[in-house]
Amino acid sequence: MNISENINKFRKLIPPEVTLVAVSKTRSGEEIMEAYSAGQRSFGENKIQEMTQKWEDLPKDIEWHMIGHVQRNKVKYMAPFVSLVHAVDSLKLLKEIEKEAAKNDRVINCLLQIKIAEEESKYGINVDEAIKIINSESYRAMEHVKIIGLMGMATLTDDESKIRKEFSFLKNTLQDLRNEDASLTVLSMGMSGDFEIALECGSNMLRLGSSIFGERNFN
Ligand SMILES: *Cc1c(COP(=O)(O)O)cnc(C)c1O
Repeated sequence: MNISENINKFRKLIPPEVTLVAVSKTRSGEEIMEAYSAGQRSFGENKIQEMTQKWEDLPKDIEWHMIGHVQRNKVKYMAPFVSLVHAVDSLKLLKEIEKEAAKNDRVINCLLQIKIAEEESKYGINVDEAIKIINSESYRAMEHVKIIGLMGMATLTDDESKIRKEFSFLKNTLQDLRNEDASLTVLSMGMSGDFEIALECGSNMLRLGSSIFGERNFN
């Protein structure tokens, strides 16, 4: 894999208004720096400790995205620097992020993860729960977290029409939720296997790992 060539390839392929998050979980600092030297600045991790270590070791103009499931007791480690939390799935988690963001005198941007896939294993909440969070008094009172959009993962399948259906559902959900809160603009959907469909369905944030860095051995 030539990582910097891949970054350049995707930069040409992806419309300029779409953010490319290079998913660097399990990758070394050297691999990340190869992407960095090609101009890539947004990186996604799914483990808070790994992300924190990389934040400490690597250039400070990197924007770190937490794309994995978040354990509340670890929010404090990422609160000083995380740029976007993709997988918020409860008011309880949002409250913890609010508390830790306040300590750091920051506003932390978040996405609500909506469950769009069939699989039992996929995290996320349904649309009603999302509306409830957005309209809740406690979220409204928070000054250090801002929900700026939605994230979703499609079913892992070869059935393109199924993936398209799930992504379109998420896009429509964002439109609906914008009636409740117009500051929701980010639609984080699309991974290496399905990013083309995601773009066609209106994604404006892709999370690409293996198509940039090569196949992972685990995770
Ligand atoms: C690992 C991961 C990705 C990237 O997956 P690839 O198939 O390697 O592109 C995207 N999103 C989430 C939430 C992930 O955990």
